Amino acid sequence: MGIYQIAVDGPSGSGKSTLAKGVAKELGIMYLDTGAMYRTCGLAAIKRGISPKDSEKVAQMMDEMKLEVKFEDGVQHMILDGEDVTGLIRTPEVSVAASDISALPVVRQSMVSMQREIAKSQSFVLDGRDIASNVLPNAKYKFYVTAKAETRAERRLKELNERGDFSQTYEEVLRDIEYRDEQDTHREFAPLTQVPEAVVINTEDYTIEGTRDFLLSHIKED
Ligand code: C5P
Repeated sequence: MGIYQIAVDGPSGSGKSTLAKGVAKELGIMYLDTGAMYRTCGLAAIKRGISPKDSEKVAQMMDEMKLEVKFEDGVQHMILDGEDVTGLIRTPEVSVAASDISALPVVRQSMVSMQREIAKSQSFVLDGRDIASNVLPNAKYKFYVTAKAETRAERRLKELNERGDFSQTYEEVLRDIEYRDEQDTHREFAPLTQVPEAVVINTEDYTIEGTRDFLLSHIKED
């Protein structure tokens, strides 16, 4: 098939990263988690003590900081100013900062151009909010992954607990998810978008393997 891209968009906790990762593995192609890039920008703001909503300070930060995406044995690592921060970007605090900072055009422009650059070198599955609508409108395959907020909150809480993080209750996780949904859907620049041609997958209808096989069936039919 030559080099091709698969876009997987959807809201927080919809299961899109598990799905995207599984599909990439099955097809023997690369996986890019674009949320990790916005999370790293959010972490950078927290580390510098600046508000992720302050566009001027964030613009200056984007000029000064060095963000790199590295792949080691196919696994994505986020490097911020020379430090591997991959293990530091999954906290509830960073999730909210990522959603705030990703609304700023200065951040999006820089991340989107990095994403396009990365995705052109090899075949990739990319997951995010605006992959099909903005980053790669010509992606060969487009999927939109969804599930209701309560289910997504339950999954997120389980994930946090499995990592030994018990800092939030179910209600707090649900509130964060709803906050991010609201922001990600209503922001002015590149909001979470379901393009008309995307194949919609409700992850509540299937097991993890079932979801992956459903997606793969659309690719193999081609
Ligand atoms: O997917 P994940 O929850 O890790 O993304 C973190 C945040 O980054 C999201 O809440 C969203 O605001 C932002 N994001 C984005 N565009 C993407 C991927 C993530 O705005 N392509």
